[in-house]
Amino acid sequence: MAILGAGIMGASLALMMARRGYAVSLFDKESEPMACASRWNEGKIHLGYLYGNDPSLLTARHLLSGGLCFGRLVSELIGSNLEAHTTFSEDLYLVHRNSIVAAEALGAIFERVDVLVRSHADATSYLADVSAARSNRLSKTELADVTNSDQIVGGFQVPERSVNTRWVADRLCAALRGEPNISLRMASKVLSAQPVDGIDGKWRVAVASEKRAFDIVVNCLWEGRLAVDRTAGIEPVPGWSHRYRLCLFGRTSQPVDLPCAVVALGPFGDIKNYDGRNFYLSWYPSGLLAESGELSIETPQALDADARQRFIGDVRATLTRLVPVVSSMFDDAEELEVRGGFVFAQGRGSLSDPKATIHRRDQFGVNRLGNYISVDTGKYSTAPWLADRLARQICGID
Ligand SMILES: Cc1cc2nc3c(=O)[nH]c(=O)nc-3n(C[C@H](O)[C@H](O)[C@H](O)COP(=O)(O)OP(=O)(O)OC[C@H]3O[C@@H](n4cnc5c(N)ncnc54)[C@H](O)[C@@H]3O)c2cc1C
Repeated sequence: MAILGAGIMGASLALMMARRGYAVSLFDKESEPMACASRWNEGKIHLGYLYGNDPSLLTARHLLSGGLCFGRLVSELIGSNLEAHTTFSEDLYLVHRNSIVAAEALGAIFERVDVLVRSHADATSYLADVSAARSNRLSKTELADVTNSDQIVGGFQVPERSVNTRWVADRLCAALRGEPNISLRMASKVLSAQPVDGIDGKWRVAVASEKRAFDIVVNCLWEGRLAVDRTAGIEPVPGWSHRYRLCLFGRTSQPVDLPCAVVALGPFGDIKNYDGRNFYLSWYPSGLLAESGELSIETPQALDADARQRFIGDVRATLTRLVPVVSSMFDDAEELEVRGGFVFAQGRGSLSDPKATIHRRDQFGVNRLGNYISVDTGKYSTAPWLADRLARQICGID
């Protein structure tokens, strides 16, 4: 079989299929697997709290199953426990004064998400046991310990954790290279996928240097997915968007005590402390480099030295204004890496518009046309779960 795209979706599926005895050709345009969004993101393993502007809770329900089994599935794939590379405290959810949902209303939504989380059969399988999950509104004193900014008008502690995505990416790369049933076809940009003789037969994959037919083709190309789907005869459903976001990955020379926090639902910002020395910082308004509703989008040029310094300065100044202790990460930084990736969403509009469809993420998953399968990963946190379901389906287990 051919798997197109070696991000967390394609890599997880390739390992699952190869270990069930399938010969897998894994294609990617980059020279290494796991080089794009799946290496350079925050690694929040979603339980649904971030989607507080979806009161139907459809997004939370759709994200929850994937988030709860992420740790178990990834540990099986890489043969190693994630505990030492998982944020060790619960997230602080800081409500920005321009939040499109007021703190009181968020509190009510969070209580409903708590119930969903607690009552899920896999609640004990999350990165930390969440079978008694309860979001807590921070008191004034607790909030003042974190922020003295008048831009933050409330806060909650929510039971979500994040994983160090660079560490996971390195382990997944090693697992792929160690798997004899996987043939890595790197530096191969996929141009098209077409049926050889009807959709239920073989499918031909074209890269620049060759065309080859496979029994099954699975498209996990993320920002490149829709263009190849169209060549396969699957017309994208209108209303998607591609956004390219930059963020900052920091490493300090000694342990620094930063809280894990998310600023939402106005301008978004994130602070993640994975192990005391490795950090992720983002300020969405500074990091949004490109946005498009077109079928495909080019990766923006890397920042030049001046623009890179400006970006680092912006993130530092903004996050330090909100959470002053962030400056200690910059003071002790021995490495600051500016990296980015695409966010694909079956939704559009500005995050500041409460009616924008971007606030819902309940449409991702698998679309099948005979032996051609297209997968919208949705989130990093849902990829291994989707891969597991798809692998079982292909092998006829479910
Ligand atoms: C800044 C940022 C923060 C994020 N934070 C989170 C978070 O906290 N939690 C979460 O769950 N999700 C988060 N996400 C989303 C998450 O990163 C993605 O949902 C996930 O990584 C997608 O995985 P993937 O395997 O589908 O895509 P990718 O990892 O992008 O893999 C797709 C692969 O396809 C390759 N490719 C594309 N087109 C072609 C082509 N034509 N030919 C050959 N190869 C091609 C690419 O090179 C790439 O390697 C974030 C994203 C960004 C950008």
